[in-house]
Amino acid sequence: MILLKSIPKVDKFITHEAFEGLSKTLVTKISKEVIENLRNNILNETIKEINEQSLISEVLQNYENLISPSLKSVINATGIIVHTNLGRSLLDENSLKKTIQIATTYNNLEYDLNEGKRGERYAHITKTLKALTNCEDAIVVNNNASAVFLILNTFCKNKEVVVSRGELVEIGGSFRVPEVMTQSGAILKEIGTTNKTHLRDYENAINEKTSMLMKVHKSNYSIEGFSSEVSFEEIVEVAQKNNIIDYYDMGSGHMIDLPYNLNKNEPSILEIMQYNPSLLSFSGDKLLGSVQAGIIIGKKELIEKIKKNQLLRMLRVDKITLALLEDTLNSYLKNDLEQIPTLKMLFASTETLEQRATKLKEKIEDIYNCEVIKTSTMVGGGTTPNKKIPSIALSLEYKNYKPNQLEKLLRKNLIISRIENEKVLLDFRTIQENELEKLENILKGLFN
Ligand SMILES: *Cc1c(COP(=O)(O)O)cnc(C)c1O
Repeated sequence: MILLKSIPKVDKFITHEAFEGLSKTLVTKISKEVIENLRNNILNETIKEINEQSLISEVLQNYENLISPSLKSVINATGIIVHTNLGRSLLDENSLKKTIQIATTYNNLEYDLNEGKRGERYAHITKTLKALTNCEDAIVVNNNASAVFLILNTFCKNKEVVVSRGELVEIGGSFRVPEVMTQSGAILKEIGTTNKTHLRDYENAINEKTSMLMKVHKSNYSIEGFSSEVSFEEIVEVAQKNNIIDYYDMGSGHMIDLPYNLNKNEPSILEIMQYNPSLLSFSGDKLLGSVQAGIIIGKKELIEKIKKNQLLRMLRVDKITLALLEDTLNSYLKNDLEQIPTLKMLFASTETLEQRATKLKEKIEDIYNCEVIKTSTMVGGGTTPNKKIPSIALSLEYKNYKPNQLEKLLRKNLIISRIENEKVLLDFRTIQENELEKLENILKGLFN
């Protein structure tokens, strides 16, 4: 095997000038792999000659793939506002600027500046949440799934929690409410049927082992037709009468009334708070429009107990989360809703969207066959399931490209579109105003 003898030696190979300025450690590691691969290919005779230049290119290519960031910015042209696969809620640039200031300096995360001694990290958001929701106390954890787990673990370990079968949902990413509940140590007491649960089902389920009546928001489906569920208001009443805890996992809780009549079946956090509930939890990065977090609000004595649960340490949030969340909550307090991108998108008028779509159309219609159309989209992220909201899209066609070919090409260029009625649509509900120029340039560049 004469070819085996000509395999480059790694020590020498890595000194090639093509690798100048690169990390020697990484070049060596990749070169070893590439050369080992070459050796195997010679042995199994899939390679008949050695080309050093192509080996160098391969190493450089692998190097580039490894060091280039995997997490990339994309243009969301799907129209789904709280898009779980695309990072859920966008953060406000000013909130991030304030957060950079906090995170790049020392801060009073757990330091009481008045007393000069240890403080509590949760204190930073409780005053705002109290002012906003009239809750007695609040706490924040890593996400809403942790909030559910922590609450059940604190109050229902080896005790019964009553929940309707119609609410034992699986939420995207295989988060199954019944499994999370069981893993927390709670004993699940399922009541009712998939389509009907009555108040008397709750009442009949209560015994001396019952610790909690729980309601779970049906985030990604709705039951139509012959169905009934018990309102949280009634659940609170029964729980209080029996001296047990009521808890509503709201999923995507919203702080303000929603447009397009979405509020009809989706009471806001403030409306729910009027029932004087024991505990509520909701996500920070769904309709609230902030950072990933799970927010728990409710009765002071219950929150105190949660704070004493050792698990909290594992689920606790970082200063970056707290700084971002505090800033979003402050925007609500000041009624500065323009600062919350998720709400800005939700409330944008179709006239505004149409203007933007028309502007883009005029810029690219000499290349593409395109049309501004009325369409509808959804909020996403497990909010208002199956409810459509109006939107405006630009339909896009290019020569004899099939819709899925065009969609794929756009995707390779970091534009995520959707296909409807055999056409690629760019939905303007989720395209940011400051992305329009970039979008135009990418679209022009594709077929130039
Ligand atoms: C989304 C959701 C969760 C999980 O919240 P995360 O913030 O994603 O952890 C839990 N319960 C319900 C009802 C939800 O909609």
